[in-house]
Amino acid sequence: MDMERQSEQAIALIREAKNIVALTGAGISTEAGIPDFRGPGGLWGDVEKLNFLSLSGFRRSPEGFYRASSDLINAISRAEPTSAHRLLVRLEETGKLKAVATQNIDGLHTTAGSRVVHELHGTYRTGRCTQCAKAYEMAGFYAEIGAGRLTLPLCSVCAAPIKPDIVLFEENLPEEAWIKSVAAAEACDLMLIFGSSLVVYPAAELPMIAIAAGAKLVIVNMDRTGHDSLAAVTIHGKLGDFANLTLPLINH
Ligand code: NAD
Repeated sequence: MDMERQSEQAIALIREAKNIVALTGAGISTEAGIPDFRGPGGLWGDVEKLNFLSLSGFRRSPEGFYRASSDLINAISRAEPTSAHRLLVRLEETGKLKAVATQNIDGLHTTAGSRVVHELHGTYRTGRCTQCAKAYEMAGFYAEIGAGRLTLPLCSVCAAPIKPDIVLFEENLPEEAWIKSVAAAEACDLMLIFGSSLVVYPAAELPMIAIAAGAKLVIVNMDRTGHDSLAAVTIHGKLGDFANLTLPLINH
């Protein structure tokens, strides 16, 4: 079936639904120029870099962490929201979409204008001192790193390294984001899953929680996911194409 027909089916489910939750992953931001982890240019094949993205890696070498994530940081600093981010803003404006639970750390849902966003893996946009916990907006530091004038952001109070508010390997999910995402999944009648391979747990549990509560799933993802057989509609294609087809059909 072509994407146009599949998108019509997705729109029909969106029209019927009263309580929609979106679960998004790196695939919603690839068209904004931020590579996903498992696609081409992604970090997954680069074991050396991945080692720095763990809590022990950060503690061992905070400079190594910023070096390993500099491409990602530069891409995030330049990125603008995509039409798929805007589609979720529009759905929230209709009152049907109650929350976006995202695995992304790029902050693009908030930049696009989504109001209820649960960032399951934190965000690169803010950070805090690893010693005194002073909070920082990170954009200024990233501009300096991008220009080659800074290798490690340090706290202005105690000079300890500043760590972005992202969840590194070996760290727990932010409790509030997880609890709110579970509550949203339990309450929804439709979950839209955009751009996630659904292999990272516990985020990939959210569709199961939604299904157990009687919700339907719509999955839009370039590649197959392990949850495809559970979905009422599965679309294998670009989110940008899907959003361009569906955005004009969402009425306020
Ligand atoms: P993933 O890399 O495992 O999967 C992304 C999926 O998106 C893939 O299955 C791919 O087929 C699909 N995809 C890519 N471009 C697409 C497009 N244009 N349209 C539709 N589908 C597309 O990502 P994940 O499931 O989010 O898990 C990876 C982890 O990596 C997450 O924990 C996340 O925190 C982190 N991550 C985040 C970002 C970001 O914030 N933008 C970027 C890279 C990695």
